[in-house]
Amino acid sequence: MKFNKVLDNCKIYEAGKPIELVVRDYGVDPKDIIKLASNENPYGTSPKVVEKIANLSKNMFMYPDDSMYELKEALAKKFNLTSENFIIGSGSDQVIDFLVKAKCDENSKILVSKTTFAMYEIYGRQAGATILKTKDDEHNLSQFEELYKKEGADIIFLCLPNNPLGECLDKDEVYKFLAKIDKETLVIVDGAYQEYAKYKDVKKAIDPADLIEHFPNTVYLGTFSKAYALGGMRVGYGIGQINIIKTMYKLRPPFNISTLSLAAAIEALKDEEFVQECIALNFSEMKRYEEYAKKRGFSYIESFTNFITIKFDSDYISSEVAQKLLEKGIIVRDLTGYGLNAIRITIGSREQNTKVFNTLDEVFKDLQKQENI
Ligand SMILES: *Cc1c(COP(=O)(O)O)cnc(C)c1O
Repeated sequence: MKFNKVLDNCKIYEAGKPIELVVRDYGVDPKDIIKLASNENPYGTSPKVVEKIANLSKNMFMYPDDSMYELKEALAKKFNLTSENFIIGSGSDQVIDFLVKAKCDENSKILVSKTTFAMYEIYGRQAGATILKTKDDEHNLSQFEELYKKEGADIIFLCLPNNPLGECLDKDEVYKFLAKIDKETLVIVDGAYQEYAKYKDVKKAIDPADLIEHFPNTVYLGTFSKAYALGGMRVGYGIGQINIIKTMYKLRPPFNISTLSLAAAIEALKDEEFVQECIALNFSEMKRYEEYAKKRGFSYIESFTNFITIKFDSDYISSEVAQKLLEKGIIVRDLTGYGLNAIRITIGSREQNTKVFNTLDEVFKDLQKQENI
């Protein structure tokens, strides 16, 4: 059967491996499996949110409030905007989909950093757009500018901080760059890890209200999946000028997040203290990864997120390291698919991280032994 020909150029998104797979394939006891491949909050969901959802489960038979009034009001208050500046998605992934569809067709161009969030390219290709990539793996704004001048672009994606590498541009350099971009080009600032970046270094903080006021051609993306610990509930949002948001509503399916997801997001916004505690623990634990990498002689990218990318140079092959870890019940992300000999590890809880270091020691020993045979 023939399908839309744009799909010939589309790849299937490969999600982090689930715990169930490790149980099935390697016979590891589920309670011994540590999943550090999808940048989830290792401290779990706020107990207040869990309690709220448990009490609401009897409401599952009802459709959610499709206006999402309460959630949008809470977000508007948090970001000092009005609810008309918000669109809610089934994860910020869905908001990316709306934006790409709203702006692109087969003649469009999308400009991204070489190594960045895979969904930008996937949604772009679904729309038939051409994907332009900078040369450097990490965001390099002079390369963005050069390519933009030469080729133009309908959409530019800036991932601040960047997944899967962890680096983050300063707000000031981003603003200088945005001042050079044509008002017809949509610039999407993906702030999936902004809560972490802001905590570590205020120079990285992007204020969505200030961003869209200065640059009406930008849309800011946020998510409840990372710092707010609701990855399983699928809630994200886009923030933009009202005319852009209104256009995106034409693409939104009805009831695009569930009754329980909606309630969870509303409740999670009330427990900022929990979020800040998790972020503080994240960075104290991240120091242990930096020390581990140094001790082992590996380089790593300074991270403003809840994960760290460790590079192996020619000492080890990242896919082998990731595979050996998997067999021992630890799920991490191998970055071979991005052309890097590196792994990305979500920063876990203290106990999880200790186990990761011990298991990595074993893995490196095993791999050396293999070499000597
Ligand atoms: C996790 C992530 C998202 C969105 O996740 P959702 O769960 O769909 O909200 C968006 N961008 C980046 C860079 C991410 O890492």
